[in-house]
Amino acid sequence: MHFTSRLKSKLPNIGTTIFTRMSKLAEEYQALNLSQGFPEFDCSPDLQRLVDKYIRSGKNQYAPMAGVMPLREAISKKTYESTGREYHPETEITITSGATEALYVAITTIVNPGDEVIVFEPAYDSYVPAIELCGGIPIFVTLDPQYDSIDWKAVASKISEKTVAILINTPHNPTGNVWSQRDLQTLAELAEKYDLHVISDEVYEHIIFDGSSHISAASIPALASRTFLCGSFGKTFHTTGWKLGYCLAPAALTTEFRKIHQFLVFSVVTPFQFAVAEYLLEPGHYLKLSDFYQQKRDLFLQAVEGIGFTAKPAEGTFFQNLSYQSLSDENDVSLAERLTREFKIASIPVSAFYSQPVQFKTLRFCFAKNDETLLKGAEYLQKVIW
Ligand code: PMP
Ligand code: GLN
Repeated sequence: MHFTSRLKSKLPNIGTTIFTRMSKLAEEYQALNLSQGFPEFDCSPDLQRLVDKYIRSGKNQYAPMAGVMPLREAISKKTYESTGREYHPETEITITSGATEALYVAITTIVNPGDEVIVFEPAYDSYVPAIELCGGIPIFVTLDPQYDSIDWKAVASKISEKTVAILINTPHNPTGNVWSQRDLQTLAELAEKYDLHVISDEVYEHIIFDGSSHISAASIPALASRTFLCGSFGKTFHTTGWKLGYCLAPAALTTEFRKIHQFLVFSVVTPFQFAVAEYLLEPGHYLKLSDFYQQKRDLFLQAVEGIGFTAKPAEGTFFQNLSYQSLSDENDVSLAERLTREFKIASIPVSAFYSQPVQFKTLRFCFAKNDETLLKGAEYLQKVIW
């Protein structure tokens, strides 16, 4: 590749994301795509009609920089009902271009060159590049893909004079783990003790299984006062392509957040904001999602039984990890590629979520797919020659 002498890469070690690569490989080999996380099914026709309604009624010009008021009000009400924390629509809620933008802007708002940010890995792929683009240094707390609990002493030992924030994600992509009330309380104590900000990625808040509940950073006052809570409608309404998300943060943090948001995108797609605002008025539209996905998780787990994988059932998200430790020594990237090419089933190698090479023998499968696809995927996995 030719670079002019003036171009110095800001991300010299970063290539194209694993999600893009595996989806492309799946397409090339006409494999079932259980790799990149997106639903195979469409969003509700009612929601589509609402978008149509707002496009036809002329809601087609710039939205206010912070988002249209009915959507900010609907998010405020919904968050208050689930967490007891009231975010003021005028000063504490910003609508963003997906959670990706919310995370990027939150990180940019608080990270200066030389600052350290605690990141739990496996980590979603956008966190670390955003920290590094700000000149920040990610400090990793490394967890097994099948981890049971967080060692908070180990977390505390990573905090230094330079630490400015801790970045968390619950329910967690890719492990499917869900943090407990105790975890969030401990995080609050640490954040208070060391005066840290928290960036809380809660995009899977409505996909949680076996009767457990999502503990939001917003529900703990000591955390809410220092947290940028990043959310998304992509997972909740089967609309990952709309890239509609939000950031909730106390007014002083939101003021700084918006200074960056306004020059990154200014505002986001107007008619879709109005449509989601109206759709959110009916809580049934998001409260049924957990049951819907739990049935899919169970179907997939049952269908792959007997192959020899070890699996800790996902507690949330639409991802199920399968460990092939007892089946093969093959490295996970090579296996994921081989399964796509030869056995027509695409997954994500979990090592892609780590900063250093790791030897975990784990693949991540997205079960946001039609039942027939999941059953067919399991059938293909049954045929694999290890
Ligand atoms: N965080 C996590 C953990 C995710 O899995 C994703 C996307 N799948 C995002 C953030 C980004 O969300 P969005 O598509 O709304 O930008
Ligand atoms: N969040 C999705 C996943 O984990 C992918 C989003 C993307 O491709 N950037 O698969």
